[in-house]
Amino acid sequence: MTHTFYRDTWADIDLDAIRHNVKQLKNLYPSPKNVYAVVKANAYGHGDIEVAQAALEAGADKLAVALLDEAIRLRSHFPHIPILILGRIRPEQAPIAAAHNVMITLYQAEWVEQAKAYLDEPLDVHLKIDTGMNRQGIKSADEAYAVLTAMQSSNLRLKGVYSHLATADEDEHVVLTRQMTRFKTYLQEFDGYISEDVEVHLGNSAGSMRFPNEMFDSVRFGIGMYGLYPSDLVAAETGIPLKPAFSLQSRLIHIKKISPGETVSYGATYTAEQEEWIGTVPLGYGDGWIRQLQGFHVLLEGKEYPIVGRVCMDQFMVKLDRYMPVDTPVTIIGEQEDAFVSVDDVAHHLDTINYEIPCMLNERIPRVYH
Ligand code: PLP
Repeated sequence: MTHTFYRDTWADIDLDAIRHNVKQLKNLYPSPKNVYAVVKANAYGHGDIEVAQAALEAGADKLAVALLDEAIRLRSHFPHIPILILGRIRPEQAPIAAAHNVMITLYQAEWVEQAKAYLDEPLDVHLKIDTGMNRQGIKSADEAYAVLTAMQSSNLRLKGVYSHLATADEDEHVVLTRQMTRFKTYLQEFDGYISEDVEVHLGNSAGSMRFPNEMFDSVRFGIGMYGLYPSDLVAAETGIPLKPAFSLQSRLIHIKKISPGETVSYGATYTAEQEEWIGTVPLGYGDGWIRQLQGFHVLLEGKEYPIVGRVCMDQFMVKLDRYMPVDTPVTIIGEQEDAFVSVDDVAHHLDTINYEIPCMLNERIPRVYH
């Protein structure tokens, strides 16, 4: 839902792009392969409820989040859709998960023993196997048997077994092959424990886009659903045409001509060499548009202009080559006429990954859904 807002900066979220991207992935999988729409972290900053709704409309089957809080929020909007929590909840929170009918991830026998004391209704769980990420998950068959054995006298019902790939977006095969081989070895080992209806899943966007035939029952589709590629390699190798869903728009709120020798913003880090037109854009580090974005560029009238001087909490300044009126549209991320600034461009400037950009542009920036 788009809320009323008064500020001159907002993010446009293209829900058709979300639907398009989910369909692209679904096309790779003959039915009944399940797609989890990964909508943790407020759908990577795009808006969890709206993205989940669009993804489900386009054929996603289930939802995945990181936190119990995120799952509860989604449950109130989607009473019947399976929701999996990928992170760890505390044992005493098991009854809360059960009451909201959300599936949880577990991998510790002690967790199971502790949860038993609290849980008097059934709770569906997925067993997480650590095949090489070294983040969460059982590390050996013995650990797995300890979890599965402890579960036998509990209300916990095994509904899934999964692992997570560390390098599926990269041009390397050693870690990837090791993880895939380990995962298959575990599955053989657990043959007697895992019934037919236990869902087996391994792939994130990179894995699911590159190796659709090795993805078992389900995939967990995150970054690709937002129209961003996990890496340039995945874009080039798969050729799957994704559409970016996120763009960031603003308007010029002020313009002035400054004289040679005058400086711009805190610390006077930029000095005009000649008479220059300086425009002010109402976006700053209080919105997540951080100070390292000094030196990056934005689009006005279809052309790139540099951000000069330090980014402030609520504004930054841009050097223009002519007068432009207040209210001139400023595209910070997205397309303007023939010019384009991508989420990846911002990520490259910040020496980070595209995932981080819509996540860091915080809730102070209203999201407008189309
Ligand atoms: N599965 C797990 C366990 C994750 O932690 C994540 C994201 O971090 C995903 C799936 C989705 O990954 P991606 O956004 O690369 O598709």
